[in-house]
Amino acid sequence: MIQKIGNWGNYPVMDCDVEEYSPSVIHSNVPQIPRGMGRSYGDASLGAKVVSMLRLNCMLDFNPETGVLWAESGVTLSEILEVFVPRGFFLPVTPGTRFVSLGGAVAADVHGKNHHKEGSFCDHVEYIDLQVEDGRILRCSRIENAEWFDLTRGGMGLTGIILRVALRLKKIETSWIKQINIKVRNFEELCSLFEAHQGSTYSVAWVDCLAKGKKAGRGIFMIGEHASLSEIRQEGITQPFTSLKKKGLSIPFFLPEIILNNFTIRVFNFLYYHKQLKRKRVFLTPYEPYFYPLDSIFHWNRVYGKRGFVQYQFVLPFEGGAEAMQDILETIARRGFASFLTVLKTFGPQEGLLAFPMEGYTLALDFPVSPELFPFLTELDQKVQQAGGRIYLAKDARMSPEVFASTYGEKLSTFQKILARLLPGKSFQSALSQRLQLIQS
Ligand SMILES: Cc1cc2nc3c(=O)[nH]c(=O)nc-3n(C[C@H](O)[C@H](O)[C@H](O)COP(=O)(O)OP(=O)(O)OC[C@H]3O[C@@H](n4cnc5c(N)ncnc54)[C@H](O)[C@@H]3O)c2cc1C
Repeated sequence: MIQKIGNWGNYPVMDCDVEEYSPSVIHSNVPQIPRGMGRSYGDASLGAKVVSMLRLNCMLDFNPETGVLWAESGVTLSEILEVFVPRGFFLPVTPGTRFVSLGGAVAADVHGKNHHKEGSFCDHVEYIDLQVEDGRILRCSRIENAEWFDLTRGGMGLTGIILRVALRLKKIETSWIKQINIKVRNFEELCSLFEAHQGSTYSVAWVDCLAKGKKAGRGIFMIGEHASLSEIRQEGITQPFTSLKKKGLSIPFFLPEIILNNFTIRVFNFLYYHKQLKRKRVFLTPYEPYFYPLDSIFHWNRVYGKRGFVQYQFVLPFEGGAEAMQDILETIARRGFASFLTVLKTFGPQEGLLAFPMEGYTLALDFPVSPELFPFLTELDQKVQQAGGRIYLAKDARMSPEVFASTYGEKLSTFQKILARLLPGKSFQSALSQRLQLIQS
């Protein structure tokens, strides 16, 4: 059925022929793209023909000894948490929303706040079942059909349909997080904190993107660890596994574009920064607000209005990256492009041909779509390119094929060559792959 759909950024919105997955869907004569929860921001799971995977939503098997869960690809991370947190298991890696499907998490090889220590999602995937263009279902792992596995992790749905995933969960003693928030005055201070806390499992920083001059890069640095039983007991907490009530706020319709502007974001940033009075705060928190601060507001993407928004996430290598990041932050503040949410993390080393992470700093910014935005982002692309960085495909909606090719470099060429050999029919294509000329003839 033809439907007008967009992903989380509501930009672009396209007419797509959406079909539920069935084993015969593979025999379509039109290129198709699998779709999970539509939580990528741009056009990664849009295209002429979209195959929705959400009906494949069964958990099939779990081994409590190894923590390996075998589940269909339409199962969401939220459903996994609901079942397994009370049993003492947590996701090994989680993005900033739990409303993501297993298939989407593998296809984008998503990262969390622990990439510097525990790698990306697929580092914890034992194997997958992948339906390829001739209809066969291949079991793919680092040993079996390894080439398919390498191509599919982070392969943005272009290698076939992920049907099932074996994911290794991690053991936790409680569902609480021991969080430390440290207020930082500028970017230099932030970088030193990331370096000093490399040993922390989770780290992330909120950055005031409108702070200028000596205050550029000021923000709140937040580290977290899964709390132990003795730690929660010391605080008088008796329930090791608690879950916050599900019902939260909901934005019922698209808000007018003028609500989020330079002024309101400046006020929000000021209040958020000054809300914490002491330099350092140590406290216990349920896991939900630490990992998923925005999930409690359903449809929060509607605050950007009908024109939608773009999330611009890039990574810069550590070498020279701090200076380039400082320059980018100062440029954004000077030019007054306010981002409602600006988040900085660090990455460790990363495998994968289309992998986004590299050892370095990654910054994510949300910008409402406006006529001035795209030329400005093209300027930022050049800075990212010059600093040896790259832009995240799962968030992208507007990068040019030239910037993509030059920043993903040789590994992209290898991906393209293998893909051409393994999928001569070019059966899987998305609006993103077409815009970036990712699949070569
Ligand atoms: C609030 C928010 C915070 C986020 N935070 C992070 C973060 O911290 N780290 C991070 O890495 N990402 C983050 N993301 C992005 C998100 O995790 C990824 O885009 C993820 O891929 C979305 O999964 P999905 O199920 O919604 O897939 P979709 O958005 O529907 O699809 C994403 C990609 O996966 C492919 N795909 C989906 N299902 C299948 C399947 N069964 N078989 C083959 N291919 C498939 C699609 O073709 C597409 O290329 C965030 C997104 C939001 C909205």
